[in-house]
Amino acid sequence: MLNKLFPVLNLRLLIVMLAFSASLATLISSFYSTYQVQKEQLINHTLKSNYAYANKLASATDNFLESAKQQLAYSAKKIEQNINNASLLQEEVTRLNLQTNSFNSVVVNKNGIMNVTSPYLPEIIGKSISSPGSSQALKEKKPLISMPYMSAAKNLIIFISHPLFDKNGNYLGYVGGSLYLKERNILNDLLEQHFYEGGSHIYVVDGNKQILYHPDKKRIGTSVTNNKVINAVITGQSGQVTVLNSKNVEMLAGFAPVTAANWGIVAQRPVKATLASLDTLIMEVFARTLPMALVTFILIGVFSHFISRPLKQLANSVNRLDEANSVDKLKRIKSWYFESQKLKLAMLNGVNILHTQIGQLKHDAQTDPLTNTHNRRSLNGLLSQLMLNNTPFAILEIDIDFFKRVNDTFGHDKGDEALKILADIIKNISRKGDIVSRIGGEEFLLVLPHEDSQSALKIAERLRTTVETTQMETIGFITVSIGIATWPTHSNNIDQVYKCADKALYHAKEHGRNRCVVAEPS
Ligand code: GH3
Ligand code: MG
Ligand code: MG
Repeated sequence: MLNKLFPVLNLRLLIVMLAFSASLATLISSFYSTYQVQKEQLINHTLKSNYAYANKLASATDNFLESAKQQLAYSAKKIEQNINNASLLQEEVTRLNLQTNSFNSVVVNKNGIMNVTSPYLPEIIGKSISSPGSSQALKEKKPLISMPYMSAAKNLIIFISHPLFDKNGNYLGYVGGSLYLKERNILNDLLEQHFYEGGSHIYVVDGNKQILYHPDKKRIGTSVTNNKVINAVITGQSGQVTVLNSKNVEMLAGFAPVTAANWGIVAQRPVKATLASLDTLIMEVFARTLPMALVTFILIGVFSHFISRPLKQLANSVNRLDEANSVDKLKRIKSWYFESQKLKLAMLNGVNILHTQIGQLKHDAQTDPLTNTHNRRSLNGLLSQLMLNNTPFAILEIDIDFFKRVNDTFGHDKGDEALKILADIIKNISRKGDIVSRIGGEEFLLVLPHEDSQSALKIAERLRTTVETTQMETIGFITVSIGIATWPTHSNNIDQVYKCADKALYHAKEHGRNRCVVAEPS
């Protein structure tokens, strides 16, 4: 099943897969952790700088409002002393208006009647003022900054005022100024210094969660509920937090209160805008990592090739261990590391043993164990080769004379010894290329390639006389009779040649033994 699924799974593929997946995992995890660390840093940094910015703006706004209050306090003193000097009053409110360049200033008496205005508005002088800011000032008779409210002319304003008292402490009215929140003034200038980039912005709320300042002017005057940042900042807290805004956008917000007016300032930036640079950064890291990663992958390929090659070659050579040159092929394999070296040595040993055993088996299969000459099977093969190559040859069929008697007289063992000695004599007489074979109990065949009957007869005679004159221990002397025939002269058929030699041998036996006879031409 597994084999069918992964038919080509091999060591190299395994190494490549292992190394590739390991380095890929490392790469991905390092990208991921880089991304996470950078993301945290960016978010923390943005939160911190938004917090610092909200604080800075809050204290600047505080300073502005406090100094507006102080200016009014100073003017109040002057006005109290000259309450009946109309031109001085006008001069003072004009100065206030021009000096701060931020609000319309007025002096109102204790009955709420407008005395002086700057800019000069004759249509309302002498008239009763009933705005929330004025009513609050008349009622509370103390320095104050009003809650923002809509003026009669539909402007969102705050009213800053200071009470007026005579020498005897009698309330005279107030001097005050209204600040138009939607119009250009020092407060707006202060808040608009914020550098709007990538959706980052600030906004200001009052104690009633009403927006006093917002880059989107349409939202000024609207209220925001359910915003944890606003809830926190109007209770005087400052801090930094991740929050969903009214449009469900995740924001990194820093916030700080403006204590002089119970306002809150929030500086915030969308998380998405903050992290926009991160994608570029990661792509850049990726682009810079890519060449090294490619080099690594190529190296993996090359190394896996070199690591797997010796084992692959060893594995391939397993199929051809019986080949003659398999040892040489094994030796040529470059096994350059421990395991492959050991495997190669083991295989070489195995092959050597195999070859020795095959050689031994081959020898055993072809050899007569008693005389160490070719057996019949081997002889037949060798003769077939000679005939295939058209090599003419002579055969000498050698039979011991009266061998039965030898056995009977000296025992079978002595007979065997005689057979061995005779085999040695025949081997000695034969030359390279001749074939010595034991073809029966005490019958041998000597094949002489390229010899004709006459030269074969000479060699047979030499053999016969050598046997005749060789004294054997215990046995003494034996003689042999030899029948001679040739291929293809006597017959082209090897069986006929054997028959011819048989006949010649029989003839030799018949005519007194210890002689050599060449077969009659057939
Ligand atoms: P001749 O050939 O001269 O006619 O007489 P012989 O006594 O040699 O007769 P033959 O060739 O028929 O006898 C073969 C004998 O060889 C029979 C057997 O006792 C003996 N013999 C055959 N094989 C072996 C063998 O392996 N060892 C021994 N010791 N003797 C064998
Ligand atoms: Mg015989
Ligand atoms: Mg015999």
